[in-house]
Amino acid sequence: TERTLVLIKPDGVSRSLVGDILARIERKGLTFAALELKNVSDDLAAKHYAEHEGKPFYPSLVEFITSGPLVAAVLEGPRAVAAFRQIAGGTDPVEKAVPGTIRGDYALSTQYNLVHGSDSPESAEREIALWFPALND
Ligand code: ATP
Repeated sequence: TERTLVLIKPDGVSRSLVGDILARIERKGLTFAALELKNVSDDLAAKHYAEHEGKPFYPSLVEFITSGPLVAAVLEGPRAVAAFRQIAGGTDPVEKAVPGTIRGDYALSTQYNLVHGSDSPESAEREIALWFPALND
């Protein structure tokens, strides 16, 4: 089995899409190892998005992710990383995400694209340690 770190970003919480998104995760067959509503510090945001530091959208991305509560979760299941990215849809919710995915169904903006999912099992382990340091393997 594999784990992945998923965020329902502040736009998903403020738009009341948490229940819908969690239901899609459950229907896919992924299970929850952790699930929490969090207010994100600048420090955690910077560590989470370290790979994007220096890009033009980085300052507004950190501002967005710290703008209000988000839902952080650790999902478990076979090929959990790829499975969540499949149901999330591509980063650009119009050009890449197809209908039937979370972003394809509910998002218009590449920044305000509702969810994050780790992009590899290695990223997942790094991100899980960052967001849920008390969670054991
Ligand atoms: P995530 O890592 O959040 O799952 P992703 O892997 O689909 O998303 P990345 O390329 O890692 O996409 O970008 C991380 C996040 O940064 C995106 O989800 C989006 O919120 C924001 N982002 C990426 N590209 C842009 C852009 N061109 N303009 C504005 N925001 C962007």
